[in-house]
Amino acid sequence: MLGTPYDFFIQMHLTERCNLHCRHCYQTRKVPEMSLEEVTQAIENIKKATDSWVTEYAMEMSPSFHFTGGEPFFRDDLFAILETARERGFATALMSNGTLITPEIAQRLKKEQVSDVQVSLEGMKYVHDRIRGDGSFQKALRGIANLVANDVSTSVNMTLSRLNIDEVEGVVDLAGEMGVNMVTFSRLVSCGRGKELGEAMLTPEELAALYGRLHKVRGKVALSSLDPLYTVSGIAGKIPQADFPVGGCAAGVFGITIAADGGIMPCRRMDLTIGNIKTDSFRQLWAESPVLWALRERSSYHDKCGDCRYWSVCRGCRAVALAYARADGVEDYLGADPQCPYFKSNG
Ligand code: SF4
Ligand code: SF4
Repeated sequence: MLGTPYDFFIQMHLTERCNLHCRHCYQTRKVPEMSLEEVTQAIENIKKATDSWVTEYAMEMSPSFHFTGGEPFFRDDLFAILETARERGFATALMSNGTLITPEIAQRLKKEQVSDVQVSLEGMKYVHDRIRGDGSFQKALRGIANLVANDVSTSVNMTLSRLNIDEVEGVVDLAGEMGVNMVTFSRLVSCGRGKELGEAMLTPEELAALYGRLHKVRGKVALSSLDPLYTVSGIAGKIPQADFPVGGCAAGVFGITIAADGGIMPCRRMDLTIGNIKTDSFRQLWAESPVLWALRERSSYHDKCGDCRYWSVCRGCRAVALAYARADGVEDYLGADPQCPYFKSNG
């Protein structure tokens, strides 16, 4: 139903420990992290689900684990976890602040066949250090250089807000010079410590101007984003129509998040726990969770997104919708994405 192969990903947070204290970080709670044995059981729990989709629905799958934190390199057993996932047929990727990646670690990542290491850069030195802390820019660049020198596929991710929208071109140039494979970006979600950055959120007009500009950026490295609004901003011609999701927001459709304590969320930025991988069957939860079904069904959406011609390829960022609703004291993840400038009525 979702295209072939089905690129299903699990974003797994292995720890909430970190050596930085970023202004927009969505981790604020300290929770007991899963042991290696529990992480292994979690991987096997998810494998039972993906295997069953292959046999029951004859789906072609390319499932992957994206391990992150906190800072994933705080886990002493990180390489054992990567091996466990790989041995069970999952591609593996890492999301990191880059500051702890030594040449030796980069060599081990190469050996472990990690498909991509994403390092966060929020801009050039001044802006990055303002958001992520003094000295973090140089350390992140050192980590990136170590990855590239060891031929590990490396991407750089920016979290875009008013604090750094003028930095994109500089980061793309720098990434190109360093030999990075891709620059990706996501939108700031006003949750966790990012709540304090409400004034940095882009208006729909600012977002339209920014995304228009980003489509014209040309550098040695490609620019890409999983933000559904970026996809919509680049759609030319006929708008794909379907009554089920064929692209757009991954939450509960193409991806799921497991928190460090095993909590299951549609997306880490949504902060909406629907179960725990230590106690729930993932296969059953994926098939039965009312929250996940609401995310997949057009009839549960309201306001603009429910009535929009882009619904099947977009649905907005559900985390942004929820964060704005919560700021108004409402628990609603199915309303309009308040940063969207692209609504087109279905009528
Ligand atoms: S209204 Fe919603 S579905 Fe339509 S383009 Fe905007 S965010 Fe996407
Ligand atoms: S809720 Fe937002 S951040 Fe999460 S998968 Fe959807 S678009 Fe991406």
